[in-house]
Amino acid sequence: MLRILVLLLVLLGVALSTWADRYRSTRWRTPLYVAIYPIAADDSAVTSRYLASLDAARFQPIDLFFTREAARYRLDVREPVKTRLRTPLDDQPPRRSPSAGILATAFWSLRLRYWAWRASGHVGEPEDIRIFVLYHDPALTPVVPHSLGLTKGLIGVVYAFAAPEMNGANDVVIAHELLHTLGASDKYSPGNDAPRFPDGYGDPRQVPLYPQRAAELMAGRRMLSADRWQQPESLDEVVIGPATALEIRWPAGSADPPHLSAGR
Ligand SMILES: [Zn+2]
Repeated sequence: MLRILVLLLVLLGVALSTWADRYRSTRWRTPLYVAIYPIAADDSAVTSRYLASLDAARFQPIDLFFTREAARYRLDVREPVKTRLRTPLDDQPPRRSPSAGILATAFWSLRLRYWAWRASGHVGEPEDIRIFVLYHDPALTPVVPHSLGLTKGLIGVVYAFAAPEMNGANDVVIAHELLHTLGASDKYSPGNDAPRFPDGYGDPRQVPLYPQRAAELMAGRRMLSADRWQQPESLDEVVIGPATALEIRWPAGSADPPHLSAGR
């Protein structure tokens, strides 16, 4: 009985703090500080060289993306997201087993929060959101596991490639998981990754409809024609659609249409 009571109290505390996090993180009065923790996912020399080359400028396209989209939605805060590069970690976050059920997933999520709490917060700077980016040598790991972003604890775990030519694509995944932590949902079909119409289209009112000039961030792919879609190479090809804006409590009603210079 006592053990169950303690467990229930822990879960109640987690639920309350999740609710408070969500309220605080989607008020959009002040910038959200997003700490990026790089982690080498393998022993490859390619990966360690890549990690050594990382600097704060590497993640600036993420900040600029949110500034551009916030302006389009007339958000009060000009720079809604400020990424901060942290020193690489030696430890890897706990992995969820693909067969985990509801209870095992709940425990894994608690373990991840505890792991993140121990691994982070050693600098005197706010960390509203923590994104742990595990870099893989593409020659050793051509396909990485699915990244994830949890509203519980505002934690993202991103599986990325330690390759400069993948920088732009990695940024798209980081921004996608970042919005999951803020409560945004996926806008693609789980079976074939196809963006869902209309919410998963960069501009569902574009004429002609195809090819779409932009991908919607939570769909993660740009429609080339009615039956072809492609991963964007960088955030230059990506926008935040009205459905996603609503989920993260941006003023979705008043957005200007997307203007992309780099869209092809
Ligand atoms: Zn997603």
